[in-house]
Amino acid sequence: MNRDAVYRLETRPKRKIDPSKYAGFKFWVPKAIAEEDQNPKTQLWRGEPTEDDQRAERFRRVKFLRKYEKDNPLIRAIADRLAACRRGNRCCSGACPECGWLLQRWFVRKSKAFISDVIDKDDQQLVAISIIPSQPFVAPDQLNHFSIDNLQRRLNFALDKIGLGAAIGGIDFSHNEDRDGKYDPIWSVHLYIITSIINEKHSKRLLKETYQSDDRIPRPIKVVDFNNSARRRSYALKTIFWRRVGYDEVKADGRRCRNTKRQRLRVKEKLELFAFLNRCGLGGRVIFRGAKPSVRRGRVKIRPPGGSYQANAKKCQKTAKNAPRKASFRPRTLYL
Ligand SMILES: [Zn+2]
Repeated sequence: MNRDAVYRLETRPKRKIDPSKYAGFKFWVPKAIAEEDQNPKTQLWRGEPTEDDQRAERFRRVKFLRKYEKDNPLIRAIADRLAACRRGNRCCSGACPECGWLLQRWFVRKSKAFISDVIDKDDQQLVAISIIPSQPFVAPDQLNHFSIDNLQRRLNFALDKIGLGAAIGGIDFSHNEDRDGKYDPIWSVHLYIITSIINEKHSKRLLKETYQSDDRIPRPIKVVDFNNSARRRSYALKTIFWRRVGYDEVKADGRRCRNTKRQRLRVKEKLELFAFLNRCGLGGRVIFRGAKPSVRRGRVKIRPPGGSYQANAKKCQKTAKNAPRKASFRPRTLYL
C-alpha cells in the first residue's frame, strides 16, 4: 500500500486517551513509552523497523479493524484507541504496533545495564532461554480465556525450582498448525528469558519437568549463550505476529526433519489476537524476575526490587545456586 495513502486513511478528530482506564494497565508503561518517544529515532539494532514503518503498520491495522468493526463494539473500541494514538497521547494498547515498538526500544536501552550489572556474573553462563509450554493448550477461539498472569506465575514457579536469580524477558505469540493436518492448530506462547545459570544441563533437565515436549512441541526448551547485543535484547518484545506452518522435510541424504514456514495470520486469527493483546496490555508481556521498573523524575529504569544493583547482586548470588529452594523461603520476585 502507498504510504501517503495510509496516512490519509485516518481523518477522524483525535481524542485524549487515558491508558489507566483500560484493562491490563501498568503504571510504568505510559511513562516508559513517553520517555522513549522523546529520544531520537536512530536505529538501535540491525533490521529494526523505522518510525515510519511502525506508523504505517498502525494505520494498516486501524484500516483492517474498521472493516470488521460493524456489530463488534470491542473491535471498534480497539480501532478508535489505535486511531487516536500519537506523540504526547499514546494509546499504550497491546495491539498498537507503534506503542509496542516504543516499549521494545525502551526495553532494549534500559535492559543493557541491568543485564551487565545484575544478571551477568563471572562464575555463571549468561544465556537466553526460550520456552514454549505445551500446556495450557490454547485452541483457536480460546485465546480470550487465556491468562497471561497465570503464565507468568507458572514460569516463576518453574524458575524457582531451578534456583534461578534475576531474569528479564518477554512473551510472544504465534498461531501454529501442521501443513498436513497432523495436529489441531493452537495458539503457541513463547517465553524468552535473559538470565545466567551455573549448569546448563541441570537447568534444562529441571525445566523439562515443568515444560514437557509433545507432538506439536518437540523441543520446548532451548538454551543459547547471550551476548547482550541490542538485537538479541530486542527479541524479548516482538511487535509483529505470525502463523507458523510446520511440515516434515526430507533432506538430500534421506534424513527427515521438522521445519516451519512463516505466513501471515488470517483475518479471524488477527481479530482474536488483537483483542487479546489489547486486553492483556503491553506491560503484561514483559517478564521481570528479581527486577522491577522504577519511575524517578519521569524516567523509567529497570532496577532490583528495593535495592541498589550491588545489594541485588549479593541477593542473586545467594539464590542462584542451581538447587531447589528451602521450603521456608518465599520468593518475592514477580513484579508485573
Ligand atoms: Zn499506540
